[in-house]
Amino acid sequence: MVITGPSGVGKGTLIRRLVSDVPGLVVSTSATTRSPRPGEIDGREYHFLSRSEFDSRVEAGDFLESAEYAGNLYGTLNSELENRAEAIRAVVLEIETLGAATIRRKVPGAIQIFIAPPSPESLRQRLVGRGTDAPLVIEQRLATATRELARQSEFDTVIINDDLDTAATELAQHVAARLDCSSDKPTGDS
Ligand code: 5GP
Repeated sequence: MVITGPSGVGKGTLIRRLVSDVPGLVVSTSATTRSPRPGEIDGREYHFLSRSEFDSRVEAGDFLESAEYAGNLYGTLNSELENRAEAIRAVVLEIETLGAATIRRKVPGAIQIFIAPPSPESLRQRLVGRGTDAPLVIEQRLATATRELARQSEFDTVIINDDLDTAATELAQHVAARLDCSSDKPTGDS
């Protein structure tokens, strides 16, 4: 399952809610060449790799998909989807839109969901508000967001993250229906 959408739209928060609402989901840990932010731990938020490590793993065919985003490389390792010991219904990939297009080609049956902001301005407010990126990086991410928003029509499901509880409920209901199971939480429960 792919969950995509521009940086700052709240994908991470919605995915945490989704995993607690719908049983049997695990979140893939991506690899990246971006530096860890304060509080991020190698192997938890990301597998943090140097560019040469990343390149050699691309060369070795270790990635299902990878893409450059705001000057860094990001990718899904095949190992995140293989040899999972636990009984799971789906692996959730939180990735940008180019990677989502690759997954659509390689895994046609994958559920693909685009999370959209209520307005482009709300993205700027969130990126500035969360305080994790330098002003130049925020501008880079907003420029990328404009391109990403233009691709949302490629996705059969678009969820607008205006009110978090409403978006989380909509996401859980959609995923549960697609996986043909029921979500743990009843409608309207926040
Ligand atoms: P951030 O630096 O904010 O953690 O992530 C930047 C962007 O890279 C986000 O849109 C995020 O969804 C995306 N991203 C994270 N992991 C992957 C991945 O494995 N593949 C791709 N294509 N994008 C990713």
